[in-house]
Amino acid sequence: MATRKRAAVEDLNLNHIVNDQFDRAARHVKLHAGLLEQIKTCSNVYYVRFPVRIGKRYEMFEAWRAEHSHHKKPLKGGIRYSMMVTQDEVMALAALMTYKCAIVNVPFGGSKGGVRVRPRNYSAEQLERITRRYTTELIKKEFIGPGVNVPAPDYGTGEREMAWIADTYDVFHPGGLDNMACVTGKPLSQGGINGRREATGLGVIYALREVFRHQKDLRRLGLAGTLEGKRVAVQGFGNVGFYAASTLFNEDGAKIVAVGEWDGTVHNPKGIDVTALAEHRHRTGSIRNFPGAKTTAKGTHCLEVECDILIPAALENQITMENRAKVKAKIIAEAANGPTTPGAEEYLLKRGAIVLPDIFLNAGGVTVSYFEWSKNLSHMRFGRLEKRIGEMQRGSMLDAAEGLSKRTLPAKQRKRIVHGGDERDLVHSGLEQTMVDAYLEIRDVMMRHKKIEDLRTAAYVSAIRKIGTSYLEMGIFP
Ligand code: GLU
Repeated sequence: MATRKRAAVEDLNLNHIVNDQFDRAARHVKLHAGLLEQIKTCSNVYYVRFPVRIGKRYEMFEAWRAEHSHHKKPLKGGIRYSMMVTQDEVMALAALMTYKCAIVNVPFGGSKGGVRVRPRNYSAEQLERITRRYTTELIKKEFIGPGVNVPAPDYGTGEREMAWIADTYDVFHPGGLDNMACVTGKPLSQGGINGRREATGLGVIYALREVFRHQKDLRRLGLAGTLEGKRVAVQGFGNVGFYAASTLFNEDGAKIVAVGEWDGTVHNPKGIDVTALAEHRHRTGSIRNFPGAKTTAKGTHCLEVECDILIPAALENQITMENRAKVKAKIIAEAANGPTTPGAEEYLLKRGAIVLPDIFLNAGGVTVSYFEWSKNLSHMRFGRLEKRIGEMQRGSMLDAAEGLSKRTLPAKQRKRIVHGGDERDLVHSGLEQTMVDAYLEIRDVMMRHKKIEDLRTAAYVSAIRKIGTSYLEMGIFP
């Protein structure tokens, strides 16, 4: 036997990780083994290679769309553009979507798509061609449609890509009344909804606020009070990281001590003005060299700074066996999908940290996607019917109360009470309630089961139970 010790290589395959997480939780659920297998398995994956003209030549692109679960329809999940996209990654992300939707009671199955492409290397026109061709491939195989599979933005895609997808679908389905509901995360003028852009980041904050309402849970971390003054590091200044950071900074009075991006980290223990950082990035094209903060070359440096809360909001496998001992945060808020490897999580939990799992914490995006889809099917903006009558009724009630008490309310307070919710108000309200309810559900699972010691397992248990019930009531499993 060779005595040479081989360094243990950490398994970073997200599909293995997600399945392991599932198995660990499934032990706590009393369901038939066959049913558990059915819940866990990814139903189908479409893999396609297609050519797109880039300049004077044609380039071949690889793309996927995985459908994890059909227990509810349509299936839902983003499309990512990245060179790291693989079939296993797409399958794992589709599974996470299934569990995520169950946790926040959004009636969809999970799906995910990806194109192997580095968007930064292509012009807008070329990206449009790639997106339209990919959409056409999805249409051909019925991997897109308001009632079957509804994509959304993910890493490397945004409103612009969603508009191209919606338009391509519309071209192939002339006269289709519900065509706009074939994709979410669209620009407002193309059937999008107010509040989708900030939804994931804001969902993270609504969840964190709820976590801080349970002071007893935080005592052992030495964290008390609200988010005010708490030191926060954020990895990723994209759609999710930016809105999470700016809400914490502008509304909660938290101190954003570090922000990391693909090309570096900016760090200032005294706090970074997030609005000014966004302006700096807009002007210079990068967060690097933001005045008053120290710039370091590695985007992962932000994971290791002194802070109370760490929000990884970029990609998977960021907190690993390699850097886990350098992570100082007491709360890891997984705004990204799969940012913490199991080995790193085990270590952090042992150290007493709280890990708020992706399948709960970043579910705000798909929650508001659900609102957008439902708005598209109803063909009417939320709040359109009831805003005015609500304002009139509350106004009359106040008039009557003022008449009886012979006192009048200050104008500002009156306005706040009378104000009827517009679409954004309603979306935010629905999102907040969803995140709070989901957290209470997961926390309750953990409180009731002595053997469940972490929120991820509790979240999986909650998801597996709901999906299991759904299959059982379909009558498939006796
Ligand atoms: N891509 C987002 C996620 O991972 C949003 C998915 C959606 O809105 O369908 O949750």
